[in-house]
Amino acid sequence: MPPQPDEQTDYIIVGAGSAGCVLAHRLSERADTAVCLIEAGGENRSPVIDTPMGLPLLLRGRRHNWYLETEAQGELRGRRLYWPRGKVLGGSSSINAMIYMRGHPGDYDDWAAAGNPGWAWSDVLPRFLRHEHAPGSDPAHHGSSGPLHVSDLRSPNPLSLDFLRAAEACGLPRREDFHDAQDPQGCGLYKVTQWQGRRWSAANAFIDPVRHRGNLQLRTGCRVTRVLFDGRRAVGVELLGPRGRQRLRARAEVLLCAGAVHSPQLLLLSGIGDAAALRALGIDVVLDVPGVGRGLQDHLDVTASMREHLHASVGVGPRMLPRLMAQAWRYAGHRDGLLSSNAAEAGGFARSRPGLARPDLQLHFLPSLLRDHGRRLVWGYGVTLHACALRPASRGTISLRSPDPLAPPRIDPAYLSHPDDLPVLRQGLRLARRVLGSPAWGRHAGVELSPGPGVGDDDAALDAYIRENAETIYHPVGSCRMGHDAFAVVDSRLRVRGVDALRVVDASIMPTLVGGNTNAPSMMIGEMAADFLLGRA
Ligand SMILES: Cc1cc2nc3c(=O)[nH]c(=O)nc-3n(C[C@H](O)[C@H](O)[C@H](O)COP(=O)(O)OP(=O)(O)OC[C@H]3O[C@@H](n4cnc5c(N)ncnc54)[C@H](O)[C@@H]3O)c2cc1C
Repeated sequence: MPPQPDEQTDYIIVGAGSAGCVLAHRLSERADTAVCLIEAGGENRSPVIDTPMGLPLLLRGRRHNWYLETEAQGELRGRRLYWPRGKVLGGSSSINAMIYMRGHPGDYDDWAAAGNPGWAWSDVLPRFLRHEHAPGSDPAHHGSSGPLHVSDLRSPNPLSLDFLRAAEACGLPRREDFHDAQDPQGCGLYKVTQWQGRRWSAANAFIDPVRHRGNLQLRTGCRVTRVLFDGRRAVGVELLGPRGRQRLRARAEVLLCAGAVHSPQLLLLSGIGDAAALRALGIDVVLDVPGVGRGLQDHLDVTASMREHLHASVGVGPRMLPRLMAQAWRYAGHRDGLLSSNAAEAGGFARSRPGLARPDLQLHFLPSLLRDHGRRLVWGYGVTLHACALRPASRGTISLRSPDPLAPPRIDPAYLSHPDDLPVLRQGLRLARRVLGSPAWGRHAGVELSPGPGVGDDDAALDAYIRENAETIYHPVGSCRMGHDAFAVVDSRLRVRGVDALRVVDASIMPTLVGGNTNAPSMMIGEMAADFLLGRA
């Protein structure tokens, strides 16, 4: 067969995740602009994705999940940590816990102050508001005309309300909304990206309503293997899809939205990265950009848990099966009840020590016993309280294991490699134990299950527990950091430094991890990039 001519489009977007879906939506608003959105995973039509309580199944399965693993972590007793990432239309927003959180305003002001003009809170806030549809919320602090539904939980578990009372008794005031003030200290029920009790991913919000656009081509099940260059100009991508290996040309730009693990992997596979490391793998170097893959940050998380004897939690026991069946019936009819829960229903922000300008701890409360991300079932009933350190100083790397584009990259978050991080997490664990031990739990109070009575309150005992048990709470960022120092990868317009027609647009560009969950910030990054490309910045 004669070689097929390469297909052409204006913009190629690699990765239909939180940022990629926003970007595809906005760019294709211009009828004269052709956009091709390429996603390695499949379509997002699945009741397991739509039903919020499908979350544990998504974390256990590989169908919509890259199911990654870190390198052995020296400071965590050599453990390898499980890293789920979404591999499906909507990306990680299709498998996440649906918490809507923008991060602390000061985090963005820090980005701008570090030499990234246009990224201050006053710049990014309008982009958050633009995509929000939160009609029941205070219009002074929420948008109401965007495509992203942001809702209150329909049926919070009574234990989540008990948690709020216990947190209040420990000095964390009750918050109705974390977006209504500069300082989010306190606890409340989280707002969720749901619509009428079902998950509302970036794909539901930004792709489903515009599938009919003739200028938007959607290609699922296609894995981009590298960016193609003409000299130092990105001119297209090579991909592996149902029709085999193919090349696609971009008349305007290639936009990498493959997330904090795969965007740096793609840059490296394409010859952009540390030149010596690339040559060692036999990869032709396009440009020596030593920062690619470096600067990785993540929220490391530790949990405390408690038994509860009234069986109000989601547990494993003989009573659960009939309850689940009744709840499934209820969900089918009304889209509420237990199956509409996002699991991490409540939580909030706290300071590990007085005098800090911003909270440096976040709590996530689950009315269930959680082990190993829900991959291991725990017999009985109970609750789990997570504490994560919000602004870690440790930075790790994403690097190539081999030049094979289908091999997973090497993920080394280097957790706790900076000495400042462990004390923050230790205080978080103390706080979580204090909240679970509060008399405010009343009839629901049970014995502490973990760390458990065998673990004392001294630093050494808590540190040992953290090293043996800490896990990710799924917020990797910073692996293609924005900035202008020697290790920055993109400039403040998200252009890869030193080459033309190539940008990175996803969580990997964050110069520093924001103090909160990362889905909404990733979507905001998609909005920002669209404004740059459409000349609206
Ligand atoms: C289990 C879990 C729970 C979470 N809970 C929350 C939460 O409750 N609230 C919150 O705010 N945040 C949460 N997060 C984090 C949040 O969802 C992510 O930070 C955010 O979705 C990242 O967006 P992104 O656009 O950077 O990447 P992603 O959304 O991960 O998108 C990247 C996309 O690129 C695709 N891709 C990768 N490589 C290729 C390739 N070579 N070719 C083609 N396509 C490719 C992927 O399949 C994926 O669809 C959670 C994450 C996880 C995994």
